[in-house]
Amino acid sequence: MCFYLQVLQPFNRMCIFVLLALLAIVLSWPGMNRIHAATLDETIRVAIVKSASEVTVAGDGLLVTNESGDALVMSFPVTVKPVKDGLLVDGRLFRRLSFAASSAVYVNNKPYRGLAELSVADKGILVVNQLPLEEYLVGLINCEISSAWPIDAVKAQAIIARTYALNKKKARINNHYHLESSVIDQVYEGCLIEDSRARRAVLETEGEVLTYGGSIIQAFYHSNCGGQTEASEHVWGTAIPYLKGVNCQYCLSSPTATIWEYKISLKDLEARLRTAGIKVSGLYDIKPGPVNTRGRLKQVMLLASKGDSALSGDQFRKAVGYGAIKSTRFTLKNVKNEISFSGSGNGHGVGLCQWGAKHRALDGFGAGEILAYYYPGTELKKLSDIR
Ligand SMILES: [Zn+2]
Repeated sequence: MCFYLQVLQPFNRMCIFVLLALLAIVLSWPGMNRIHAATLDETIRVAIVKSASEVTVAGDGLLVTNESGDALVMSFPVTVKPVKDGLLVDGRLFRRLSFAASSAVYVNNKPYRGLAELSVADKGILVVNQLPLEEYLVGLINCEISSAWPIDAVKAQAIIARTYALNKKKARINNHYHLESSVIDQVYEGCLIEDSRARRAVLETEGEVLTYGGSIIQAFYHSNCGGQTEASEHVWGTAIPYLKGVNCQYCLSSPTATIWEYKISLKDLEARLRTAGIKVSGLYDIKPGPVNTRGRLKQVMLLASKGDSALSGDQFRKAVGYGAIKSTRFTLKNVKNEISFSGSGNGHGVGLCQWGAKHRALDGFGAGEILAYYYPGTELKKLSDIR
């Protein structure tokens, strides 16, 4: 290089030094490092298909390997079926198949980043999507909220979803996968609904997690609390210091997302309860039981000709359906054997209220302030600082 610099005119030498200085600045720019860290850091394993009788896989330039890691040649799309001893593809039998893509692997026509691993479990095909945690979060944002919400609400969502995922990964480290892709854990449908705002929120909070006493917290969250978030012991019987419940009037600013009504006849309600495994016969009325300190029903009384019984508010919600009885914050009345429920809130109510976070962000609160409010006593930290 020195030789070439000697033969260059002074002006050209100066141009090269300027270019090298610019290159050094660009390479040290935080965003450049972030891209690499985001792709190389933690991975997460998410169950995206369970007990399927058939799965189709497609994609460009997919690398296919079997249970021994041997590379296989396949022409796509392929249809995979479960048989007694494994997976059947074009008459060939495999115990496990892994499909890796540089862009996206399509499973049942939905695109996913990373790799899709197929095996047989529970009398059907289980598909686990393994991908970098940060890429998972980008795909998740628009499944859980809208990335069009104020950016600090989107960033708060990115942080709690990362925190939730890492807490579950640690708890389930020896399991075949770490997370469900439904409301049981966090809703995730691949990379089809990724967008630039979701990616921005993930990049700007990269590696940030909520901690309590130096450990990653159990970051439960829900759609809408209806005015007060819930204490963990009221839902799961275990008191957690940072999940005591707080007042949240902010979600009430979106009444259509907060208020709900539901009607069902006593006859249909009894059938619904029995289908869910609740023993009830001759249901002729139901009554609300006592209300807890956070405004939610502790019990629902079932009055029946073959014997009265009571369910906890959460048991009742689960039995009738989470989509029908959106929260345990409701009143009810019986009009001519039709029960009318009037409620507020959506979800178990523990931890962050997503609609409350939206309105707090609209009011100027930052992501850190929003999280500190819903998880009192917690600290926001970088993963690199707690490991
Ligand atoms: Zn709320």
